[in-house]
Amino acid sequence: MQMEEVDMTPREMLQHRITQPSQYLAKGDDSEPDFSIGKVLHFDRRTKRLVDDLANVRVMVIDSDFYKGLRDELFNTFKSGATIILYQMGIGYGLLTGSKISQSSSTISASRKFMRRGEYQGYGQLEVPLLGSIISGIHREVVVRLKDSFYATSAGQTGQVECYLTAGMIAGAATILLKKKFKCVEEKCLSKGDEYCEFRLKEEG
Ligand SMILES: [Zn+2]
Repeated sequence: MQMEEVDMTPREMLQHRITQPSQYLAKGDDSEPDFSIGKVLHFDRRTKRLVDDLANVRVMVIDSDFYKGLRDELFNTFKSGATIILYQMGIGYGLLTGSKISQSSSTISASRKFMRRGEYQGYGQLEVPLLGSIISGIHREVVVRLKDSFYATSAGQTGQVECYLTAGMIAGAATILLKKKFKCVEEKCLSKGDEYCEFRLKEEG
């Protein structure tokens, strides 16, 4: 905890972390650019493209201002309809990426890959405490937790849940990986003052 956080309420602390992120980043050596991120992304010097070898896709990096700009104009234009648009967009992505990841892996390993990949890509840290039980079919719904959500920290403290793209992505990927139709609803979010984001992933029908 930073010194100035000592007298803050949890809500003020979260807001501080969102508005002053540089105070919480590790200090590294920036004299040489880093061209690979874990084993997932690398910059191909021949094609001059950033690529993700796991899903064999070209990658473009987006930053929090890029997302906030998109998000704010989407809400200005479509009001609450923006939430449906973002969720459906997330589903489209989840279906595609789920298909790529599931091709050469068992369900449990593909699900873990999906979560690890999300972490490398910057979504935040995904956790599914009862992953095995939903894969085996013992439970028809599970809780999915997301720490330090990119979309929530980009949107800021809005007083509402913000991670519709992530919710859709989880529902889409689960539908492919678990071979049943799923929906995913965000119930807690950093953007409305919760300590982390929490989703309910539920089998449909
Ligand atoms: Zn959230």
